[in-house]
Amino acid sequence: MVLAGFGGTSLTTAQEAEHLHERPNWNCRVCSRPWPCLTARTRLLHEYRAFPSLLRVYLSAQMYEALQDMVLDGTGPLNLYDRFLAWAWHEPPHR
Ligand SMILES: [Zn+2]
Repeated sequence: MVLAGFGGTSLTTAQEAEHLHERPNWNCRVCSRPWPCLTARTRLLHEYRAFPSLLRVYLSAQMYEALQDMVLDGTGPLNLYDRFLAWAWHEPPHR
């Protein structure tokens, strides 16, 4: 799946510190919150606003990768749907 790559294959154009996840803990590299953090969600909603279904494909792939890491880690999946996908049906907030 093309969009499942780590960071480099996203549609990101901004070069500022990107709120990407670390593996295997799936916390944000920048703010250490569970990824996708609020900043990452906002950025993704804006980046994919023309292709919301692609955003959900991307997030689904990320969710399954996180699930694998968490199962291997013994953490156990915790409400990953809410974390990765539930918010992606919203319109991007106005800046
Ligand atoms: Zn962050």
